Amino acid sequence: MKRTHWGKDVKVVALGSRSLLCSNDQVLYSSKTNKKSSRRSEAEITELCLDMQKSKVSGTKRVNNGDEKKKAKQLTCCPYKASSDAISTLALHSLVRPSDIEDMANLGKASHTCSYYASRAALAAAEVVVLPYNTLLSKQARESVGLSIKNSLIIIDEAHNIPETLRNISSCTISLAVLEAALSQLLAYIRKYSDRLAGRNIFYLGQIRRILVSMIKYIKKRPTTSQQQQQQQGTTRKEMMAAVALMFTLKLDNINLFSIVRYLEKSRLSQKLLGFVNHTAATAEGEDTANTSEPKKKEFMSKHISSMSIFETFIQRLTGTSREGKIIVEWPSSTEGEDSTKQSPTYRFVQIHSASQLDNVVEEAHAIVLAGGTLRPFTHVAAELFGDDIDVMSAASTAEGQLARNYDQLPNKSSSIPSSLVQVTPRLTTFTCGHVIPQSNVLMACLSSGPTSHKLDFRHTSRSTNEMIDELGRSVLNLCSIVPKGFVVFLPSYNYESQVFQRWRATGLLSQMSKKKSVHREPKNSRDLEASLARYSSEASTTKDGALLFSVMGGKMSEGINFADDMARCVLVAGLPYPDITDPVLKEKMQSLDKEYRNTGSIGITGQAYYQNLCMRTVNQSVGRAIRHANDYAVIVLADYRYSSDSRIWSGLPQWLKRGGSVPRQSDAVFGKVTKDITSFFADK
Ligand code: SF4
Repeated sequence: MKRTHWGKDVKVVALGSRSLLCSNDQVLYSSKTNKKSSRRSEAEITELCLDMQKSKVSGTKRVNNGDEKKKAKQLTCCPYKASSDAISTLALHSLVRPSDIEDMANLGKASHTCSYYASRAALAAAEVVVLPYNTLLSKQARESVGLSIKNSLIIIDEAHNIPETLRNISSCTISLAVLEAALSQLLAYIRKYSDRLAGRNIFYLGQIRRILVSMIKYIKKRPTTSQQQQQQQGTTRKEMMAAVALMFTLKLDNINLFSIVRYLEKSRLSQKLLGFVNHTAATAEGEDTANTSEPKKKEFMSKHISSMSIFETFIQRLTGTSREGKIIVEWPSSTEGEDSTKQSPTYRFVQIHSASQLDNVVEEAHAIVLAGGTLRPFTHVAAELFGDDIDVMSAASTAEGQLARNYDQLPNKSSSIPSSLVQVTPRLTTFTCGHVIPQSNVLMACLSSGPTSHKLDFRHTSRSTNEMIDELGRSVLNLCSIVPKGFVVFLPSYNYESQVFQRWRATGLLSQMSKKKSVHREPKNSRDLEASLARYSSEASTTKDGALLFSVMGGKMSEGINFADDMARCVLVAGLPYPDITDPVLKEKMQSLDKEYRNTGSIGITGQAYYQNLCMRTVNQSVGRAIRHANDYAVIVLADYRYSSDSRIWSGLPQWLKRGGSVPRQSDAVFGKVTKDITSFFADK
């Protein structure tokens, strides 16, 4: 917006989470001296902020005369939100010119005013709103920030993420600890108000109690001997079932969940319980007793979200169709790390098909533009987002076929690919276009063997052998000598990345690499991402030898990060990141796609095609990090013998990269030929 002529006139507001926009360092960090390691989590920041909202005190308050400890603990309201005039002024100021999240956060810090609430205050006057997927796609989230999308034009970038985001929004997890808290609160509430409750209320509260007791009993059930053995080996035990099957298993099949959901909504039981619990806790605190109605907590539970509201959401999900979602009951192994939340067994509702979840946005908006570089094949997107509409599925299939035929008829496929606008149905139009760069600015090379002619085979069965890891290391080491400036290597998983580093450290390959380029790794923690990227970027662009960066496909750096110009003169993708085929949710999705494909007479996509597309989309996202503008240039190396031997993999690569080429010959994919091509490519630049 800033770079367009509209930037002068259009009022733009960027919405973000508290962790991005909070102006209060005392809330953001638990230590004043070490900000880097003491940054609080999103949930903790929200909890502290909401705690402060409840306080009316604008200074330190003495609770008990002379009790210094209590005095220190007492929360005060946030000084950055103390003045509503200051919030309004910051909101108006932010609308003067387009500001992004960083600008907004800086404005808040500079003016000692809360950027988070100021951005919400600016919403009413904004003409363009920039916001995260979650806030846009969830009706509840939109309502909570006061955002209406009625008749709006919505542009969603990187739209391939939408199905996953919709699935995440619709999924719901309830742990044993939350179930126990909900039951404990419910029992305390019934005890307190039993004389005043009407018969209908007593009936429904009894039914809710029965569901909670059954769920707790089932999830606490001791695993059998063989399951215990599984747990000793560090494996999480999982059971997946439809909602109906769960109700039978819990012996609750005679309960009408729809009427329970209606009761929970109408009675506002969860809000009542939250008020009741907070009142009980406050009274207990006043009486200086440690007794509250919450059980001993082992995991983080917000004081501002009642356990009953999580139960209510879970029960709502159970009333959907079994095609849409399933329930996974998980008993984590006792050896699964330090995270206490993972120790508690859980019921998890997972959304399998997300198509209907987009309806609430489609119905309200004037139009939606789904934009992205990895949205094809359209049949895949249609199956994900419009799977319930057979006409759209069929039309998307026709449009995809038409595009392929148009492309085949092009006289010179290697020249720029023409734009194509196709009205698929009266309500759905597709648009495709080529890449902005000339053909001479990109070199794509498939690499099927390394410098010692060892086959590059990154299938699960062979990629972890010392021979394979060493050959990959030798390939990267040799390429470091001919690639100028930045060189980014994408590996198929975090585990594999750790494995190769361990081996290269032991064999000395890593120290040889670091003599050619400074070596960087994708950080494990998202908080360190910005600083790591800044270090890599500076060394890649400003030092003579440049830098080498190891990242993970589908990881933090494979999407949304711009490796323009000297940041990546070469991107090497090692292997094919197929998702875990044993994942029960993926298996269920693939089976259901196969069934629909058969039932509709081959409209849509098969489960196998879906699986293949997921992998190729991840590859294409990584490849797309390089070449970010018309004058940029880079080499893309696809390292794995399958790239030059499997036509399904070849057909999943983007047209702008293949430029009309067919699957390369094996003799063109050997190390000597590839390094020769790369050397002459850079010699021309
Ligand atoms: S009111 Fe604003 S500045 Fe204060 S804690 Fe909440 S988000 Fe942070």
